[in-house]
Amino acid sequence: MPRAVYPGSFDPITYGHIDIVQRAKTIFDELIVAVVTNPSKQTLFSLEERRKLCEQALKDEQIDGIQVITWEGLVIECAKRYQAQAIIRGLRANSDFEREFQMALTNRDLNGNIESVFFMTSGEYSFLNSSIVKEIKSFRGDVSRFVPSVVEKALEQKFRKT
Ligand code: ADP
Repeated sequence: MPRAVYPGSFDPITYGHIDIVQRAKTIFDELIVAVVTNPSKQTLFSLEERRKLCEQALKDEQIDGIQVITWEGLVIECAKRYQAQAIIRGLRANSDFEREFQMALTNRDLNGNIESVFFMTSGEYSFLNSSIVKEIKSFRGDVSRFVPSVVEKALEQKFRKT
């Protein structure tokens, strides 16, 4: 029963993330989306808001059987705690590779029993990240092609307040 953890900031979840979830689900019996704190990133949504958005977005997209959790600490410890054999990450551009390479090797050093598994982005989402979605929405642009409607509504509310 291979189980994997897919960690990320998910600030907020996009169709790029959802695409990775769908594809990882075809390979792993159990998939856990772990919304994590990243000390080097300031987020628009709180940890709990991000978790709820992931949960709701996956439900709306009719992707069942995915556990969504929050985790404050090392991702490798999260994988260990949930008895996962793998950590899933997505790869888009060269810039992703450098960072992911460093993280994967560090994680292997910390725990050699847990593999990092990478999914190449789908062409249509290769340019997509949470930051660009937030930027477009902050200027009241249309992000419906990039995020599920529950996320779009949450973004609208956030930027209404600012
Ligand atoms: P983090 O702060 O951990 O990078 P993100 O939410 O930005 O969190 O990304 C989580 C994971 O999802 C990363 O491995 C990232 O490369 C991947 N990812 C994000 N957007 C896409 C996309 N459009 N296509 C493929 N992978 C993606």
